[in-house]
Amino acid sequence: MTEEFIPYGSQWLDEQDLEAVVETLKSDYLTTGPKINEFEEKFADYVDAEYAVAIANGTAALHAATYAAGIGEGDEVITTPITFAASANSILYHNATPVFADVDPDTYNIDPESIEEKITDKTKAIIPVHYTGQPCEMDEIMEIADKYNLTVIADGAHAVGAEYKGQKVGSVADMTTFSFHPVKHITTGEGGMITTDSKDLYDILIKFRTHGITKESSEYINESHGPWYHEQQKLGYNYRITDIQCALGISQLEKIDKFLTRRREIVEEYNKAFSDFEGIIIPEQLRNTNSAWHLYVIQLDLEKLSADRKEIFKDLRNKNLGVNVHYIPVYYHPYYQELGYEKGICPNAENLYERIITIPLYPKMSDQQVEEVINRAKEVIRKYQK
Ligand SMILES: *Cc1c(COP(=O)(O)O)cnc(C)c1O
Repeated sequence: MTEEFIPYGSQWLDEQDLEAVVETLKSDYLTTGPKINEFEEKFADYVDAEYAVAIANGTAALHAATYAAGIGEGDEVITTPITFAASANSILYHNATPVFADVDPDTYNIDPESIEEKITDKTKAIIPVHYTGQPCEMDEIMEIADKYNLTVIADGAHAVGAEYKGQKVGSVADMTTFSFHPVKHITTGEGGMITTDSKDLYDILIKFRTHGITKESSEYINESHGPWYHEQQKLGYNYRITDIQCALGISQLEKIDKFLTRRREIVEEYNKAFSDFEGIIIPEQLRNTNSAWHLYVIQLDLEKLSADRKEIFKDLRNKNLGVNVHYIPVYYHPYYQELGYEKGICPNAENLYERIITIPLYPKMSDQQVEEVINRAKEVIRKYQK
């Protein structure tokens, strides 16, 4: 009998979501209509930020945020290698240089001490990533940023609803970016958001989303020619998001608490099942954080196992578990290798990469599926316990 395939992540749409989309399809606006503002306002409210800018996807959000931070040629920006390539690519888009700081071996998040070691007089910004949904040590990071006059752009793609010292992550850094890809906490198909408390940054972000064009007469550099007038003042992009997507986002956002509660319930089951299980190290949480739990990453205690990650990973896949690895250190990719990054620059990240496996976690998982994951994972690991 083949066992049911359980993916590592999946969206959860209901009738209300479908109706919201259909209603927008029947409205006057498919894009650049009222749903965008509504989604932005509700999202900003939810993460306790003053401003939110909805945008085409999470990568565009990072591109816009690094632009608004004034990143340019010759600048250095510090980020983590344990992230999706987009976090670092957003630095390269501006012909600036990503500098990789190492991760904390316990939380897997960027280590503030390593950040400070990597600062030079070219450093302009820091992009900490709230990996798996656990907030980084933001007090330390903001303090370093203050000391060296750097902008902090938090990549919160994993962290909608995560809390740092009781504060939602959308308002801790200078800017925080989010993604609404279907595996993330809420989805718009493709979509992203940048949140900030700064009106100045907000104004830059809004224009960047639409070609650098403004229709606000109070901002015009030249005199208006008439009612049709608008001005392109910078080089922006078409990074608009549609009303159809935002209608879905609004409807999804209404369920965020339910989604988070379910993710945290599943994590508790996993923690219980694996905390004393030989060969598995469960993710450690900082005392002052409340993770949004985008991913559940187990670390293999290789000294206590007779197989390596590759072998165990293959076995888990053979058991129809949609396990994955998040992430290949960014600078291992051929593109980065060609840019001259060498292995060895972040030993903790590289060591971690040899040991991590992401197991399924998404709110729609049934109790039975959770149990299946636990049982199948234990069965595989048990084979290799010494
Ligand atoms: C998903 C993700 C992104 C990119 O988001 P997209 O919406 O896919 O462009 C960026 N950073 C991290 C850490 C992500 O997980």
